[in-house]
Amino acid sequence: MSLAFSISAALRTPRRGITYFAIARSRQLFSTSKAVADTSPLQVFHGVPPLRSFRRSLLFANRTVGLVPTMGALHDGHLSLVRQAAAENTDVFVSIYVNPTQFGINEDLTTYPKTWESDVRMLNELQKELDSKPGSGKISAIFAPSTNVMYPTLPPSSEINGKGSFVTITPVAELLEGASRPVFFRGVATVCMKLFNIVEPERVYFGQKDVQQTVVIKRMVKDFYINTEVRIGPTRREEDGLAMSSRNVYLGARRRKVGVVLSRALRAAAAQYAKGERSRSGILWPANDVVNQEMLKQDDLPAEQRARFEVDYISLADPDTLEEVEEIDERGAILSGAIKMLPLEAPQEGEDTGLGGGHGPVRLIDNIIIKPVS
Ligand code: AMP
Repeated sequence: MSLAFSISAALRTPRRGITYFAIARSRQLFSTSKAVADTSPLQVFHGVPPLRSFRRSLLFANRTVGLVPTMGALHDGHLSLVRQAAAENTDVFVSIYVNPTQFGINEDLTTYPKTWESDVRMLNELQKELDSKPGSGKISAIFAPSTNVMYPTLPPSSEINGKGSFVTITPVAELLEGASRPVFFRGVATVCMKLFNIVEPERVYFGQKDVQQTVVIKRMVKDFYINTEVRIGPTRREEDGLAMSSRNVYLGARRRKVGVVLSRALRAAAAQYAKGERSRSGILWPANDVVNQEMLKQDDLPAEQRARFEVDYISLADPDTLEEVEEIDERGAILSGAIKMLPLEAPQEGEDTGLGGGHGPVRLIDNIIIKPVS
């Protein structure tokens, strides 16, 4: 459905006292804004006022908006969220913005993969797929703001004590990922609050892959009475079990092969639960065993063959508070882990070392939800 259709639909179904004049004015705003990129059949917005006008026209037309926030470098995990959003809303907004405040000062902000053209191509392809599904919603907007737009007052700070308008959700944001990445969830919550305020979506879509993020966002939505519903999509994986991630491009072949150890470890722990085990130690020991065995194996290999890693955490936590649990009860639990693939040693001539040449460490995270017993 085109923007023109949305506007004419709005004219036919006036709601909340909308006047013809307001619609006509928003039509003028669209035509005079620089919002629409020439290269993409999908509408690309860079500024807030045109996006808001467009969003308002959808509201007046009684349409629903699902927002999928991303940092680009899109893969099947992102696309699965867009599909879910299109199944549950008439219109999907996808934001593509690499948010500086969620990167620590020593993290990979400057090298984070930026693949704008292929992102837009993938979304246009996906739109064709959605067009062929009767009753499906459509991708109505790609929102690609600049940092000046997203941080209109102060330059964004990644310092722990940096100044700025920030949203902090404690203590959940301080645990697990937050313990190793102290500004991460402050940045995530802040940028999501901005996006939610700009788009005012009926629903927002997040991947289970970043499970702590889902807990932080749900808490933020609840505590700030944000008028949206948080929807979670399942983790999309490569065939061998590695969770898809935009950062996997840094791995290269050697580290990629070993990185699957994390999902193997979590699966081993989940298998214990399936067998009836409920205690922390009984569930976590096989996971720790899998990573320890793999570490020993890598240590024994020559430098030019191995891919060493460190374990940050293997956790069994409460699904709401993320506090570690000793026993799984009927509320279920979150089994999660993080490992750091260390820089590649002795890269060989012609070896696939990944984006960045294997010089930097790569953090991998993964999780399995242990479902509540109903
Ligand atoms: P990112 O671009 O990494 O910020 O991710 C944007 C959204 O996609 C977040 O809600 C992620 O949780 C979600 N996502 C990333 N990887 C996956 C995956 N493998 N499966 C499902 N969702 C994912």
